[in-house]
Amino acid sequence: MGVVATLELNEAQAAGNTIAWQRFLPSGPVALLPLTDNLSSLVWTTNVEHAKKLLKMEPDEFVDALNEAFLKKDSSSSANSVLKIIDGILPFNKNKMQQVPPKVLKVQEKSRAAFPLGLGHASSYVCKGAAVIGDAAHRVHPLAGQGVNLGFGDVLQLTEVLAEATYNGSELYDLQYLLKYEQERLKANVPIMAGVHALQTLYCNNFAPFVLARSLGLKFTNLTPPIKKFFMDKAIA
Ligand SMILES: Cc1cc2nc3c(=O)[nH]c(=O)nc-3n(C[C@H](O)[C@H](O)[C@H](O)COP(=O)(O)OP(=O)(O)OC[C@H]3O[C@@H](n4cnc5c(N)ncnc54)[C@H](O)[C@@H]3O)c2cc1C
Repeated sequence: MGVVATLELNEAQAAGNTIAWQRFLPSGPVALLPLTDNLSSLVWTTNVEHAKKLLKMEPDEFVDALNEAFLKKDSSSSANSVLKIIDGILPFNKNKMQQVPPKVLKVQEKSRAAFPLGLGHASSYVCKGAAVIGDAAHRVHPLAGQGVNLGFGDVLQLTEVLAEATYNGSELYDLQYLLKYEQERLKANVPIMAGVHALQTLYCNNFAPFVLARSLGLKFTNLTPPIKKFFMDKAIA
């Protein structure tokens, strides 16, 4: 489940609130997405039982649980001990920037809700006279913020194909054109869906070698501009 809410942050710590934060916990990622100077939107992925508990909590209790989820240090895992040693040896921290998210002060009244999350893919996007787009065709975990992008891509492709059908004197429901839309979008959507699903699987795992591999992978990506740019371009495309 994705527990969502609107949160009030410590404005001084948020410093303009231009950074989105995401922490990967064994139960799933918890993310803060900036709305205004001192308001952020929350998406907290967790199991159904925990989501129900979070919704029932008193506001102060919820805020405490959230700050703990974001800020609690995990010094117990052996992977973290190894990472600390590697951090000391390699220049992973040379880009010193704000390393901790701002503290959450309050949850806005009645803003808490929960939505089911998951991977879903239509077996076909089209039939004669109809096409599905967006989440009706594909649903991905929100951890990489790709859901809307995939839907926009569908719209773009479908309008191009329909324009082509019209230009060529065909009917809009012509399956030959609609299938072209489906083929093009499968090529674009499936790798992104697989990548997002792989990330989610990788990050919902506390097995020390996995933790080490993904942490080093992220640090390496952050320090290697062409690789970082590649992933940023993919995310905003
Ligand atoms: C918690 C959460 C966080 C997310 N965060 C991000 C993010 O940060 N970035 C990102 O890119 N994506 C994110 N997503 C995904 C994103 O919200 C979806 O990909 C996007 O909203 C899909 O748009 P859509 O128009 O296809 O479908 P929807 O937004 O689901 O719109 C479908 C609409 O159709 C209506 N409807 C359904 N059935 C009927 C019917 N029979 N008759 C009439 N109306 C009907 C629904 O009420 C709804 O309004 C998130 C999703 C969740 C759940």
